[in-house]
Amino acid sequence: MKIDILTLFPELFRDFLNTSILKRAIDKDLININIINIRDYSKDKHKKVDDYTYGGGPGMVLTPQPIYDAYKCIDTKDIDTPCIYLSPQGKTFNQDMAMEFSQYPHLIFLCGHYEGIDQRIIDKIVTHEVSIGDYILTGGELPTMVVIDAISRLVPGVLGNENSSNYDSFSDGLLEYPHYTRPYEFMGEKVPDILLSGDHEKIRRWRKGASLINTKKKRPDLLKKYNLTEEEKEILRNYNESDLK
Ligand code: SAM
Repeated sequence: MKIDILTLFPELFRDFLNTSILKRAIDKDLININIINIRDYSKDKHKKVDDYTYGGGPGMVLTPQPIYDAYKCIDTKDIDTPCIYLSPQGKTFNQDMAMEFSQYPHLIFLCGHYEGIDQRIIDKIVTHEVSIGDYILTGGELPTMVVIDAISRLVPGVLGNENSSNYDSFSDGLLEYPHYTRPYEFMGEKVPDILLSGDHEKIRRWRKGASLINTKKKRPDLLKKYNLTEEEKEILRNYNESDLK
């Protein structure tokens, strides 16, 4: 997958791209990330990229020319390449959107700053406006990292174990079951015995029950939308939290 990021602050991405799973994905050529500094494309003699807002009011707005020229320099894009503007006014990002974006071979991210960007740029080049939640951040760089992180772990080969994202919370509409690792006993609390039983069917049912109870407790809204199978209805009727110890 190829990703282009249009930003005024390329330095914010340095550690993000050089750490952990994303770094490995880049080293293995599974993901190719190119950062474009919008300021490099400013035709202003002082490399200015912002200006006052027409109509008055506080804050500066990113001018359209440098963004448009920076966007035009991305030569491998085709008409289907999404251009994603991170914006508090966008559709709230979720796992389904991460899945949808992970299917594209090429994505372009546009990071706003200050009061935002000139509306004409949004109208001309942006295909998706995406928000990471109902709050206002200083710029689109952190949201871009959030979205790229979520998408890249769905790209085949990026996670060590090919199946591991299939079990994550939200991938099937439920929250995931709890995880335990060594030691067996920690501060008097033991790992549920069933997980050491070696009985795969019992472990599967325990995990299903834990996932359903977790979701019911923490995110009842998800459970309401979820289509329970007969087995899951039966598990929900018969399991309660104490069975998960
Ligand atoms: N004046 C804008 C408004 O009220 O919609 C907010 C501008 S915000 C201070 C600057 C930039 O940060 C935005 O252009 C956007 O790129 C990014 N941003 C801020 N909050 C965000 C959020 N919740 N999700 C995604 N991007 C966000």
